[in-house]
Amino acid sequence: MQIRFFIYAARGAMTIDRREFLQATAAIAATGVVARSVGDAHAKAPLQTAQNASFYRFKTGDIEVTSITDGGIDLELRLFPNADKAEAEAILAKTGRPKTGSPASINAFIVNTGGKLIVVDTGTGTFFGPQAGLFAANLSASGYSPDQVDAVIITHMHPDHLGGLTKADGKPAFANAQILVNEDDYKFWTDEVITAKAPDEAKPFFRFAQATMKAYEGKVERFRDGTEFAPGVTAVAAPGHTPGHTMIRVSSGKSSLLIWGDIVHATALQFARPEWAISFDSDQAAAVATRKKVFDQVSGSGTMVAGAHLDFPGIGFVARESSGYSYHPAFWSPKL
Ligand SMILES: [Zn+2]
Repeated sequence: MQIRFFIYAARGAMTIDRREFLQATAAIAATGVVARSVGDAHAKAPLQTAQNASFYRFKTGDIEVTSITDGGIDLELRLFPNADKAEAEAILAKTGRPKTGSPASINAFIVNTGGKLIVVDTGTGTFFGPQAGLFAANLSASGYSPDQVDAVIITHMHPDHLGGLTKADGKPAFANAQILVNEDDYKFWTDEVITAKAPDEAKPFFRFAQATMKAYEGKVERFRDGTEFAPGVTAVAAPGHTPGHTMIRVSSGKSSLLIWGDIVHATALQFARPEWAISFDSDQAAAVATRKKVFDQVSGSGTMVAGAHLDFPGIGFVARESSGYSYHPAFWSPKL
């Protein structure tokens, strides 16, 4: 049987048979073109230093969800006071991470119900410096402008979640959005007595949250557990990390997604060891209890989760193991 080869040349596709092909390649080899090594290439391409615009889009039923990266942060092992150092280092080594700690993504999510464009968390803004603060650029790269946003839901009032609400000059980044924060979180982070008693290293968190709320004076609305922000988009209380820490359930048809804020900070460590709290937790015991309860629920139901600090794009599934749990990133689909 004759083997046909297809060559696509500038003048169009043509076919040649195997004998012609071998003659042609022999002729090319004689010119030295085939023998040329990589080192003889004409141009030295400079290394590229920029990462691609980072968003990932998927559907939950009829609702479109876009994961947006704001950047990353290194979570040093010392931030997990209950962790057994040797065991933690072994887990980090096994998962290819530095043994000094775990890099964590900073993710935010855009929920487009068709009727409403909702942003869930906004990254760090300028609070963490140049290692993060990419939310605004990646929101635009994903096809949306901040002026289109109807509402911003804040899972909790830490600076890596509400930082992107304001621009570098402290002015609102979202001209037309209502800002939705949990009632208990709002009370905690804007309370002057609690602020005064907070350790010095925590005071900037309080002051930043207060300045951000002031920038949106008259546009902030406080919500409670169970509030429905739009059809299929609901608040689910998950206290511990902060007093009003909230997950957002997105439901459409038979599909469901749980955007869970900071249930997990270190992907490599806290599925295996849910009891290893992070020192940023307002109430570590409550945060651990909430994490275990949520792991139980989503591993039992097979619900997809989306995490603010899970490895970008931060969506996947939780499975129960004989000891602890494991995390399984969702398949990267080229199609919506
Ligand atoms: Zn966070």
